[in-house]
Amino acid sequence: MYERILVPTDGSAVAELAVDHAVDLAERYGAELHALYVVDIEAVNLSLGTEQVERIRQGKFGEMEELEAKADEATGAVAAAARERGIEAREEIRVGRPHRVISRYADDEDVDLVVMGSHGRSGVSRALLGSVTERVLRSTHRPVLVVDERDGG
Ligand code: ATP
Ligand code: MN
Repeated sequence: MYERILVPTDGSAVAELAVDHAVDLAERYGAELHALYVVDIEAVNLSLGTEQVERIRQGKFGEMEELEAKADEATGAVAAAARERGIEAREEIRVGRPHRVISRYADDEDVDLVVMGSHGRSGVSRALLGSVTERVLRSTHRPVLVVDERDGG
């Protein structure tokens, strides 16, 4: 049933809660785990010049190593949790609008299940769901497991 499980992560604690679920399922099903961090192009657009944005798009972070380090840390934590349990893991860093990139990635890689947090870095539970999760649910037809932070995982 599950051969490829996608965990989109923004490096937040809630996203890490989702990892526990993803790793457990991957172990039971012998699935491969894909950790995906999306550099939010709109957030980056606000703070950087067009030239820098273009370089990030091409995956050339150059002196913007802080951005790359954040991404590496987020996907690295997910992959490490998987590998600790003997699960094959892939780390991907992409640039764009997070929900679009996540949905497209799920299609392109023929992902069987997306496991993500109810909230993320903004973390405030004023909204039922974070905007990225809400938009992923609206834009993909693939199964999505949402782990709610208020449930403590
Ligand atoms: P908002 O961003 O709407 O202010 P939030 O940060 O609390 O609120 P989301 O951003 O929707 O909530 O985060 C929910 C989940 O979506 C995270 O736990 C993570 O799984 C995923 N996610 C969010 N941002 C990214 C990203 N940039 N790359 C990959 N996954 C992400
Ligand atoms: Mn967010």
